[in-house]
Amino acid sequence: MTLAVRRRVRVRGAVQGVGFRPYVYRLARELELAGWVRNDAEGVEIDLQGEPRAVERLLARLEREAPPLARIRAVEAAEVESDARAQAFAILESRAGAARTTVTPDVAVCEACLEELFEPRDRRYRYAFVNCTHCGPRYTITRALPYDRPQTSMAGFRQCPACLAEYENPADRRFHAQPNACPTCGPRLSLTDPLGVSVGHDPVAESLARLRAGEILAIKGLGGYHLACDARNAAAVARLRARKQREEKPFAVMVANCESLAGLASVSGEERSLLESPERPVVLLDKGAGFELAGVAPGVASLGAMLPCTPLQYLLFHEAAGRPAGTAWLAEPQPLALVMTSANPRGEPIVRGDAEAYARLGQIADAFLLHDREIVARCDDSVLRAGSFVRRARGYTPQVIELPAEGPSVLALGGYLKNAVCVTRGREAFLSPHVGDLDNAAACRALEETVARLCDLLAIEPEVVAHDLHPDFYSTRLAETFGPPTIGVQHHHAHIAAVCAEHGVTGPVLGLALDGVGLGTDGKMWGGELLYVDGAKWNRIGHLAPLPAPGGERAAREPWRMAAAALFALGRGGEIAARFPQRNGNGICAMLERGTACPPTTSAGRWFDAAAGLLGVREVASFEGQAAMLLEGLARRHGAVEPLDGGFDYQDGNLDLLPLIATLADAHDSGWAAAVFHATLAEALAQWAQAAAEKEGVARVALGGGCFQNRILSDRLISRLTAVGLQPLQARLAPPGDGGLALGQAWVGLQAREG
Ligand code: ZN
Ligand code: ZN
Ligand code: FE
Repeated sequence: MTLAVRRRVRVRGAVQGVGFRPYVYRLARELELAGWVRNDAEGVEIDLQGEPRAVERLLARLEREAPPLARIRAVEAAEVESDARAQAFAILESRAGAARTTVTPDVAVCEACLEELFEPRDRRYRYAFVNCTHCGPRYTITRALPYDRPQTSMAGFRQCPACLAEYENPADRRFHAQPNACPTCGPRLSLTDPLGVSVGHDPVAESLARLRAGEILAIKGLGGYHLACDARNAAAVARLRARKQREEKPFAVMVANCESLAGLASVSGEERSLLESPERPVVLLDKGAGFELAGVAPGVASLGAMLPCTPLQYLLFHEAAGRPAGTAWLAEPQPLALVMTSANPRGEPIVRGDAEAYARLGQIADAFLLHDREIVARCDDSVLRAGSFVRRARGYTPQVIELPAEGPSVLALGGYLKNAVCVTRGREAFLSPHVGDLDNAAACRALEETVARLCDLLAIEPEVVAHDLHPDFYSTRLAETFGPPTIGVQHHHAHIAAVCAEHGVTGPVLGLALDGVGLGTDGKMWGGELLYVDGAKWNRIGHLAPLPAPGGERAAREPWRMAAAALFALGRGGEIAARFPQRNGNGICAMLERGTACPPTTSAGRWFDAAAGLLGVREVASFEGQAAMLLEGLARRHGAVEPLDGGFDYQDGNLDLLPLIATLADAHDSGWAAAVFHATLAEALAQWAQAAAEKEGVARVALGGGCFQNRILSDRLISRLTAVGLQPLQARLAPPGDGGLALGQAWVGLQAREG
């Protein structure tokens, strides 16, 4: 017999609450090894003893065959002296200590649980809270680490003997599944009217009947409430818009499966795998030719779609399909399409608590489909477009973004619009879920709550607090209240730093930061910037030619004002009044002539507005970014064109697009003009970056800022940069816009303290 060896193995990463210990248990038993496995504050610790080849084999398989939700960052094995008394392999109790691990994100119900959900003989048939080690809620029910049932909002539900037997059996799919539950012992559904009086006998059946009758339902989800209505009922959609005071901003739609999207939208292979991924984000798809959902996504070229995530959502589709047994129906197209939009009155954070739901949604929803398990943390739906985040939240929070280097713990408070915060711990960065726009008290409170929760949950005490340079943002003012030294990070530097952080870049890069607006170091409004960035140091190489923004912030909401400013800059101010007869053209013209209330801006977003305003796409926007979205839709429908010869020009290293705007002003075909605007802008930016790259001797070009949500612009620019041998870097793990700003602030803050 060969001599036994013994190894102590440390596994780091998201390895708790994902079935890692039973997995190790099964492997060890299979390989006839002795020892134990346990959770502790650093992750999972394994003690292995046995035949040397068997030990090696386990270590070789450990990462490769890990459970679906595990994310292993490091495995370290150390030799220890063998122990003659070693016993059969066992799972030991968790060891407490300072929380060092992460909790995993909430993910969609798995296939094995769906089988049970639709199996009439199963004890969890039609049970809305079915889950197992491989699926279900995590982040949104967890109060503290380590992730154990008493630390979650399942604490109040005592498992029945049948559930407990599963929970304690290492061979069971539900071994230590903290939210394990059944109809006997777990959370329950209820359906009430807006006064909280329960209605109907079967909440699922009654909810579907009401949705079919055109009612609006508030539905409690994983990280907050949704508002839902029948997407094929135009009157119901219109009523939801009116009650939510949301005139035109697109709604997301939930369908049973990708097959049900036929006609509504086109779905590529990549989009299908995103839609079906356990994270279940909203995916922005190109609308199909047969799109007929009136009022759901007016004017824009894309439709936000998602598949059911929770068992409850699946039950609504199951009900609509006539309660078929088994899961075969899930492969067939299903006619039901539901509008599923975050339940928040106009710009406020998503509603989380039940009392809050009645108070804030009472005027919007006709009925409330809820349950008695508390949502501990708010977490909106995530939104993606072909691999790039528009909003990063449910399914992805709190996945780690690994930084290129470690440093002090930084708390970064983000910007003003689409606020999200970021905290770091060593080399790990954690981006919070989307908080919202900080223009209302509820969002500001949610920001504070989010900071406290992230720091508590991850046991982080910030040593540096990073913020935007804008002194009036609530996030900036909050920075001072924490105590540690603060650092102001210029908005566009932060956009570029966010891209550097996720790509592991430490040396110098060029940065093209294109967005709506951010405060510059000269006190002016920037937003079309070419930067040289080297860690915490940076300088501004060039910018878009400034345009006056008549009325300041108002110009950002009224594209016709930027069109007027561009005409004025072209010496064609006399055309303003005739082109915009509904508006006060003469008034604006006078403002431009005198230069009163016309702060100059280099914002790329305002150049998009100018183009959209001139092409008659939109005179006044009903939500942020609408004009640019509509312009992109117009260009997409027209198809690709060549850039305009002589459409741009460089002066002192700055990029002027006025020649392009002059052509747009005389164009008769707005589709062609929109396409030419995109093509020429991309060409101009590429040449601009190429010249700077040669001068600075840098090949990497980081692309940051909300304008890169525009796919035509991103795709064209990236292919042009690549063609000339440059290396474009795109935001992939965080949104390119202000939703990812805090990541960049954190990375700059960390490096500033290091250097
Ligand atoms: Zn499951
Ligand atoms: Zn039970
Ligand atoms: Fe920005």
